[in-house]
Amino acid sequence: MLSDIEIANAAELRPIRDVAAETLGIDEQHLVPYGRYKAKVDLGYLSSLADRPLGRLVLMTAISPTPPGEGKTTTTVGLTDALHGLGHRAMACLREPSMGPVFGMKGGAAGGGYSQVVPMTDINLHFTGDFAAIAAANNLLAALIDNHIHHGNELDIDVRSVTWKRVVDMNDRALREVNVALGGRANGFPREDGFDIVVASELMAIFCLTESWADLKKRIGDIVVGYTRAMAPVTARELKADGAMAVLLRDALAPNLVQTLEGAPAFVHGGPFANIAHGCSSVTATRAGLRLADYVVTEAGFGADLGAEKFVDIKCRKSGLRPDVAVVVATVRALKYHGGVALADLGTEDLGALEAGMANLRRHLNNIRHVYGVPCVVAVNRFPTDTEAEVEKVVELVAAEGVRAYPATHFADGGTGAHDLAKGVLQAIDEPSPYEFSYTYPDDLPLAEKVEAIATRLYGAGHVTWDAKARRRLQRIERDGFGELPVCIAKTQYSFSTDPGLVGAPSGHELHVREVRLSAGAGFVVVVCGDMMTMPGLPRDPSAARIDLADDGTILGLS
Ligand code: ADP
Ligand code: MG
Repeated sequence: MLSDIEIANAAELRPIRDVAAETLGIDEQHLVPYGRYKAKVDLGYLSSLADRPLGRLVLMTAISPTPPGEGKTTTTVGLTDALHGLGHRAMACLREPSMGPVFGMKGGAAGGGYSQVVPMTDINLHFTGDFAAIAAANNLLAALIDNHIHHGNELDIDVRSVTWKRVVDMNDRALREVNVALGGRANGFPREDGFDIVVASELMAIFCLTESWADLKKRIGDIVVGYTRAMAPVTARELKADGAMAVLLRDALAPNLVQTLEGAPAFVHGGPFANIAHGCSSVTATRAGLRLADYVVTEAGFGADLGAEKFVDIKCRKSGLRPDVAVVVATVRALKYHGGVALADLGTEDLGALEAGMANLRRHLNNIRHVYGVPCVVAVNRFPTDTEAEVEKVVELVAAEGVRAYPATHFADGGTGAHDLAKGVLQAIDEPSPYEFSYTYPDDLPLAEKVEAIATRLYGAGHVTWDAKARRRLQRIERDGFGELPVCIAKTQYSFSTDPGLVGAPSGHELHVREVRLSAGAGFVVVVCGDMMTMPGLPRDPSAARIDLADDGTILGLS
């Protein structure tokens, strides 16, 4: 089979104005084209659709991620193509890839095989400039903070307490901790600073949770950048940064329309991390999609304990959106990995390990149905090494949980490979749900109890422990009036615990909170458990070494 980029480069794309008109009924005048194959959809036009009924929302999530990969993005595209191919008005809503992983280890994030969004290279590199706009707005605030301190520090900002960092969309470990304003009086007051990757910024989360320019500006104004020497929070509004930052994000807020390899429409818009932030594409795109299409398939990051939890407890809570059904992606290889099989042996049939690894999927299925109250189906994303016996075994094990599983071959076959899955999803949407949608915790629970609710109800943890500093920080955040906010847990995606090596479904473990951070503009409190990277590094042999430009301008080596 051809590589992802060979398939994408060989694809015949249709002009985006034709895709917009034929699949979504959007007239050309409402598009802001970025070349021939990408366009933003005008926000004024989208708000004129406010009276339209909303379509059905399908949440794509997965078992706990494993090194061999699961394929949520690929399955989001495959399912969208299947619904499209069956004659439904369907679209995908995906996150924009970050260039950090593109040049690092994971590669691009536009799907794979015959289930991709295109133009693949554009989507993975710069795209329509949204991340550059977010970085510029973020760094404008950083510049204004240091400038304010330089010119007399009227707000009495404690330079040791500035939490607002600079950002860049690159994996660059050398920038994690830096000293700024060195070089004498003219350059300001020296202080310790650091860089995060753009997708880990609070501004990215704000961008993905807002739906209007007015709300965008309000949330930016609410950002707490640090504290005064008397320990009062200092906001971006006090620095008069909100207006100019909103200006830089004005155009970026309109969602980006592209197409799948089979000509179905897709919004690719916003891309927050799923640990330090909430891991979902923009609310603007999701709601627009639901007005334009009858079915929207959208992906949440990582596994259902992180991405789907934040989709429910942060994105849905803040937007009022509700998923009608969840699709949980599992693979034979990943289930065997959760059953204790080593990476090198995943190609060998092992029904016993599959059964053991089912513990991980089972807990996610129970969480989705009984905690979030969302009906679900399982997509078995097929790999060439899967045996028939193994695939049948997964279907049987899932059926024993009272859930239907659908093997799907969209990676190799495109949308037709996911027809059974699509029909199963439609059936689950049409059936009356035996569950009632619910958040994991109510707004008015104290912050520490919100963390406990997630830890014990979803992760199977026995109890939560806190660093004394984190506990004090939590108390301050509550005293400052932010106790009603939801929490955003930053922890390893590989395990229900904080130990990435503990696969399967560990129980009774301790969830230790190391650090607490306030994201007042985004509207959540980040609770950091274990080591959390907000500026990744590049591996010894980065993908960048294999990416190349051919003499005819073709981009090579992106995966
Ligand atoms: P996720 O969104 O869960 O991180 P992706 O959909 O991005 O996963 O897929 C991760 C990687 O696995 C991609 O490189 C993709 O091409 C590959 N992949 C996904 N599904 C399959 C499959 N069925 N067979 C082979 N490779 C696959
Ligand atoms: Mg993905």
